[in-house]
Amino acid sequence: MQEKKIKVVIVGAGFGGIALAKALRKSPVDVLLIDQHNYHNFQPLMYQVATGGLEPGSIAYPVRRIFRYNKNITFRMGKVREVVPSENLLKTNIGDIPYNYLIIATGSQNNYFNFEPVRDRLLALKSIPEALNMRSFIFQNMEKALANIDNEPLEEIMNIA
Ligand SMILES: Cc1cc2nc3c(=O)[nH]c(=O)nc-3n(C[C@H](O)[C@H](O)[C@H](O)COP(=O)(O)OP(=O)(O)OC[C@H]3O[C@@H](n4cnc5c(N)ncnc54)[C@H](O)[C@@H]3O)c2cc1C
Repeated sequence: MQEKKIKVVIVGAGFGGIALAKALRKSPVDVLLIDQHNYHNFQPLMYQVATGGLEPGSIAYPVRRIFRYNKNITFRMGKVREVVPSENLLKTNIGDIPYNYLIIATGSQNNYFNFEPVRDRLLALKSIPEALNMRSFIFQNMEKALANIDNEPLEEIMNIA
């Protein structure tokens, strides 16, 4: 009878999660990598997407492709909602996932440093949809400035901080 392997679950296919899964490729464990997206987002190049220098596809790489030759690594797309440590269980939108070892590599969130009141008026840059929002906002303002039909003060729409 085949021995049941230890199950390591890694939440997050960012830099941290991918690096750990790669390090475990030759270990005698079963690795389940789970992320809410099925692609790895290369965040350092997000500025280029937001400013039109790169297309989103250039900074999003399919996670399954990274591990296609690694039999002990499985990827699932899903969002983790809760961890139940007493039961070694993850609650996700694709069902419950048991684990022996759990690694949470879910990155970070934006910090508004107490500027919460203006939060809704700021453009974030932590995901590809946000980069595309920013790109659209900048390009629309450029077009507006070029046409300047309403004689708007250009500084307000051209200045980017
Ligand atoms: C615009 C920008 C530019 C940057 N430029 C640089 C740079 O030039 N050099 C540098 O060293 N660093 C840079 N960084 C920082 C670097 O990208 C981060 O430090 C790094 O991505 C952190 O890695 P991580 O694995 O901790 O998290 P992340 O890479 O953020 O990965 C976290 C993963 O967890 C997933 N996740 C989160 N919550 C859940 C959930 N509940 N369920 C399932 N999945 C979930 C996310 O989808 C994501 O894939 C930049 C960051 C940004 C935003």
